[in-house]
Amino acid sequence: MAKPIGSGILLQPTGMRVMKELGLLESALEYGQRIDRLYGHTDRHFGKPWKFSQQVHKCVLDLQYKYLGEGYYGLGIHRGTLFELLFNQVSNIPNINVKCGMEVCKIEENQDSARLYFKTPEGKHELLDQYYDMVIISTGTHSKLGNFENRLAKPYEFGSLWGNAIDNTGYSNDRTLYQKYRNANKMSGLLPIGKCISSPKDNLVSIFWSLTQKDYMEFQKLSRDGIDFMEWKQSLVDFWPSLEPFISQITSKDQLTYATYNDVQMSPDNWVTDRVVTIGDYCHGTSPQLGQGCSLAFVDAHVLNQCLEKTPLYSKQAQSNYSLKQALAEYRDKRMSHVIGYRLASRILTPFFQSNFHSVSYMRDIVMGPLCNIQPARWFMLRTLAGIQSGWFDTFDGKFFD
Ligand SMILES: Cc1cc2nc3c(=O)[nH]c(=O)nc-3n(C[C@H](O)[C@H](O)[C@H](O)COP(=O)(O)OP(=O)(O)OC[C@H]3O[C@@H](n4cnc5c(N)ncnc54)[C@H](O)[C@@H]3O)c2cc1C
Repeated sequence: MAKPIGSGILLQPTGMRVMKELGLLESALEYGQRIDRLYGHTDRHFGKPWKFSQQVHKCVLDLQYKYLGEGYYGLGIHRGTLFELLFNQVSNIPNINVKCGMEVCKIEENQDSARLYFKTPEGKHELLDQYYDMVIISTGTHSKLGNFENRLAKPYEFGSLWGNAIDNTGYSNDRTLYQKYRNANKMSGLLPIGKCISSPKDNLVSIFWSLTQKDYMEFQKLSRDGIDFMEWKQSLVDFWPSLEPFISQITSKDQLTYATYNDVQMSPDNWVTDRVVTIGDYCHGTSPQLGQGCSLAFVDAHVLNQCLEKTPLYSKQAQSNYSLKQALAEYRDKRMSHVIGYRLASRILTPFFQSNFHSVSYMRDIVMGPLCNIQPARWFMLRTLAGIQSGWFDTFDGKFFD
């Protein structure tokens, strides 16, 4: 079911390192937009903390990659662009037979091989006539592939409504992901994402609007492009005037997509079996608050590749006694602490930005801004943002790259 989906994503230095290994970083940088800073603010009135006013501008987050050292930055990129770059690369490798538009519905494995069933347009389950040495499940957070009974995907109450608009204002030149917060239940973001590979004329900006699943049902009741929809748009501009040049380009509800996310609970013990391995959101999906999901999935793939290289399946020069089972276990052990750290960080931080806990957001508005300027808090927050924190004290940076 390979299909490009269009919101913007922020790639972290870890994900970009993998792109470099794949020889794709140069193209990604050419299309995407370098991001140097994450800046978030609120308009909470601190004399009367339950009141909000456009006259107030209080910094809540100010994280600049440059404080980590030279060469650290993020990359805003259109999902379709990222998909095309990866897809073209895979399509050019001989002996890889890419089948698109097929929904895998079941995986069967035995001692010698693994096999796949896919769903036909009539809804039947059909067995593919190939035998595989191994299957990688990378079907994302909403996947229904159910080989792993110990996987629980718990939906977050909040999701995100997003759309893309052309940057006519030079907004992207700031190289900043801007966010605006009000309490923890209102949040919007503007992420510059550079050009889309399929229409590389204009620079784009992705708009994000945080919305509960319940409020999304109300949004769905609005007309496609009538007065009620225009009023809804105006309420966003009233909340954050910076949205105006972008939201004004959204003339119909169809230009916005609602995305939900899960907190995927799956113990690393269950990430691999003898011939099946899981990577990415399928086994450790979180809320996108930390902007890590894609980069974590990239690193998973990279580490898995490194482990498989040692097996005879991969090359004749490999250690002949290094089995697939050992390689998969090594992959799991190498990824565990990095992934678990981010899953925990996401669980702790999400309520500060997407929840109905107003007291938590009050604490956020008081504490987080100053912490961004105090060491070692700034250092810790930046390392977390850049994807290089592993556990509490360990550094992931460069550990798995030659
Ligand atoms: C609104 C939003 C904003 C985000 N922002 C960021 C960000 O800024 N930075 C970041 O790093 N991450 C971000 N994320 C998270 C990021 O999108 C995910 O972490 C990342 O895409 C995970 O990659 P994946 O390959 O594991 O899964 P996915 O990207 O979800 O890919 C899974 C693929 O498998 C296909 N599939 C599913 N089931 C089947 C099946 N049965 N058979 C065949 N194919 C199947 C799907 O169609 C899909 O193409 C965001 C997510 C959302 C929703």
